[in-house]
Amino acid sequence: AYLCPVGAIYETPDWKKVWKMLNNKEPGKVYVAQTAPSVRVAIGEEFGMEPGTVSTGKMVAALRRLGFDYVFDTNFAADLTIMEEGYELIHRLQEGGKFPMFTSCCPGWVNEMEKEWPELREHLSTAKSPQQMMSSVVKTYFAQKIGVKPEDIVMVSVMPCTAKKDEITRPQQLVDGIKVTDYVITTRELGKLIKLKGIPFVNLPEEEYDSPLGTSTGAAALFGVTGGVMEAALRTAYEVLTGQRLAKLVFEPVRGLDGIREAEIDINGRKLKVAIAHGMANVKKLLKEMKEGKRYYDFVEIMACMGGCIGGGGQPKNLDPDILKKRAAAIYSIDEMSVLRRSHENPDIIKLYEEFLEKPNSHIAHHLLHTHYTDRSKAVRKAQKTVS
Ligand code: SF4
Repeated sequence: AYLCPVGAIYETPDWKKVWKMLNNKEPGKVYVAQTAPSVRVAIGEEFGMEPGTVSTGKMVAALRRLGFDYVFDTNFAADLTIMEEGYELIHRLQEGGKFPMFTSCCPGWVNEMEKEWPELREHLSTAKSPQQMMSSVVKTYFAQKIGVKPEDIVMVSVMPCTAKKDEITRPQQLVDGIKVTDYVITTRELGKLIKLKGIPFVNLPEEEYDSPLGTSTGAAALFGVTGGVMEAALRTAYEVLTGQRLAKLVFEPVRGLDGIREAEIDINGRKLKVAIAHGMANVKKLLKEMKEGKRYYDFVEIMACMGGCIGGGGQPKNLDPDILKKRAAAIYSIDEMSVLRRSHENPDIIKLYEEFLEKPNSHIAHHLLHTHYTDRSKAVRKAQKTVS
């Protein structure tokens, strides 16, 4: 077993269950995989490829050869997250709401908040993580499109993260009583499955994700690195609120690997103060100073792992001292090479709202794509007392 750096959960061998399942596929079941933004820039390391190699197409090809019927891109759901979270920020700015607002896509952070900082519950965005948004959309919108029952879809996520295994067990993540993500395997576990099947990863052709949940923007790719959710959200919030296109899409102050970073963005004359923290020691420092009144921000991105998801506990182990920089550079290169770089311009997202979700933060969007948080601090103290 491998210990997650954020203490969320021990890595469990879900790859064994997924292996068994794909080798004994049940007739009538549809097997779907999704892959997180940071997996594509790290999976190649499992096969001796240079750190920072972008292996998106080979990874998709490998998942098909493992037996998945559809391979979707979690980046699509990252664009959806920006729509839901970005519009939540816009709503709080226009109508009033709890500030500072915190991002909610990192389950390592959500666990920390519920256990140690429960007073911040209402400050977190209620948007689910991209993993859970994707699975919710697959088991509703996509299930209807292909004419199968949600319970006949088996949804497997490939994530950089062991905390994502814990996230799918949260009762408030059920949709109409159904668990939307059935299994989570890490990047390393995917590597194991590919090796076990004898798939020649390095020599695979580049294949495309399936449609309609496979199109994504450069903004979504940024979710894989610290500061990326903030940058993606700012692109959308700025353009929606001002009605103007950003001349420069890159927000330099939110990039980089310093543990705590801050920036100020002028939107329609309002100075929006934002901050980013990654790695639990930096997160705790930032929150303590905010609690003491030494710092104030409007919008804060928190990622539990150093570097964000590129440094997640389920990623390949690599002793290269520059590993985070190399994986981050790969993420930025995906954004730069993307034709679409704004979440609100993803044509499949626009279609999803037109055909199914109506508009961001609509009633149905809330039902499928949002969640709530609980105060777990007392339970934690009680458990600590019992142990001591
Ligand atoms: Fe998981 Fe990413 Fe959060 Fe780490 S930063 S706990 S990899 S979601």
